[in-house]
Amino acid sequence: KEIDANCELLVIGAGPGGYVAAIRAAQAGIKTTIVEKGELGGTCLNEGCIPTKAFVKTAQLFREIAESELYGIHVQDAKVDFAQAFRRKNEVRKQLKGGVDSLLREHGVTVLRGEALFCSDKQVDVVATDAIYHVTANNIIIATGSKISQLHIPGAHLPLVLNSQSVLDLEQLPSSITIVGGGVIGMEFASIFVSMGVKVHVVEFLDHILAMLDKDVSGELQKFLQNKGVQIHTSAKVTSIEASIDGQAIVTYQQGEELFRLASEKVLISIGREPNLDMLQLEKAGIRLWEKKRGIEVNEFMQTNIPHIYAIGDVANMIQLAHVASHQGLCAVNNILGHAEKMDYAVVPNVIFTNPETAAVGMTEAECEKQQIAFQIAKFPYYANGKALIMNETNGFVKLIQDSASKKIIGASIIGPDADAAINILSFAIRFGLTDKDITSVIFPHPTTSEAIFECASGLTNTAIHLH
Ligand code: FAD
Repeated sequence: KEIDANCELLVIGAGPGGYVAAIRAAQAGIKTTIVEKGELGGTCLNEGCIPTKAFVKTAQLFREIAESELYGIHVQDAKVDFAQAFRRKNEVRKQLKGGVDSLLREHGVTVLRGEALFCSDKQVDVVATDAIYHVTANNIIIATGSKISQLHIPGAHLPLVLNSQSVLDLEQLPSSITIVGGGVIGMEFASIFVSMGVKVHVVEFLDHILAMLDKDVSGELQKFLQNKGVQIHTSAKVTSIEASIDGQAIVTYQQGEELFRLASEKVLISIGREPNLDMLQLEKAGIRLWEKKRGIEVNEFMQTNIPHIYAIGDVANMIQLAHVASHQGLCAVNNILGHAEKMDYAVVPNVIFTNPETAAVGMTEAECEKQQIAFQIAKFPYYANGKALIMNETNGFVKLIQDSASKKIIGASIIGPDADAAINILSFAIRFGLTDKDITSVIFPHPTTSEAIFECASGLTNTAIHLH
């Protein structure tokens, strides 16, 4: 069956970039169609942010139960029922997916289920199971996301080797796992697994984990995870994976001139993601890719080289985060509406859901040095924060980077309790050009972990109260 359809805006891909753009466009009265070949909610909802954080919650609860005697609660024989954690993760996912579905429908967005491919710069074919839709659109937003990067080494496709998608389908906890790649996804899984009693190795190619953070921040997290039992091998290149006769995975890695071998029940490869351009036939619309990096080239308005075609989210490969994809989606729609809005990446918070949580926003020390910005830093440790002590989460610190000339806060990191929420205070500070004095002019409630931010800002003038 062939069906002709037309709309003012066609959005390709219903992840956090695409579905947010479609809803905003519909709110503005634009006749919008969205096409999705897989599941509504994209990577984020189905195999990324949401399912991983469901496991983070299970890990956190198990950790707290293990410490419960400290709080005067006796729990006997606590153990992880991973199959139930798996079911709960699916339940959360299902509920949120239903939410996206009803939001799209309530806003009057037409949802087509199928694979989109360009025929020209205004025509897209959607290949569905029961029909081919020939869609004509005045504007198109490409939001097709990213896919898992493959590691091309012998043994990478053995059945005991997992990726960030298949690891979420484990219904049984392995006794040990070797994680290849110490980026955000790898370290979140390392933290989840070690909290559940799994023996964890991480093998990282660079000389430190989480390369986008200040080295003292990633170093602090590395120290905590190592203390919990995660064995982290840096400057180490994985060269092969084999299955032993007794069913173990043997990972061989090279460190310097030496070769080492690690045995574990499973291996998780998490070396990154790359833009999803498969089958799109971008050449039929004349859409250009970045010259030096992978993905669709866009300008600050999220437009491709074809002005009425936009690309947002992981497929544009600026910053691979769900909230960036959503914001780029809103930006693209505003530009379709003629508002000439530019994307600004100066204040993009990044949260890593390890234990302790780690978050950063604004500039790193390395970026300041590269741009020759004179800066000073202050740190305030959570061991000096009352609420952190109550929570028994005294690891970590707040760190602020201040521009020495203007006194504005230009970068911040938090490693410690509630970092996911507290980092937003510092996003506001950086976004609106606040100084240390602006922060300390605000009354922070007591007892809260966010008081560490007040103290850290005071530390920039050596006036922190609760520090020896
Ligand atoms: P996606 O979410 O990838 O959605 C793209 C959609 O397009 C998919 O549903 C796909 O099926 C569809 N599609 C592709 N091609 C076509 C086609 N030709 N026709 C029709 N449909 C098509 N980010 C965070 O901000 N916080 C986190 O905590 C976080 N955790 C993560 C954990 C993991 C394990 C992973 C893998 C990722 C995580 N991310 C996190 C990253 C986040 O998931 C992505 O940045 C985000 O999903 C990108 O959104 P998007 O809309 O660009 O693409």
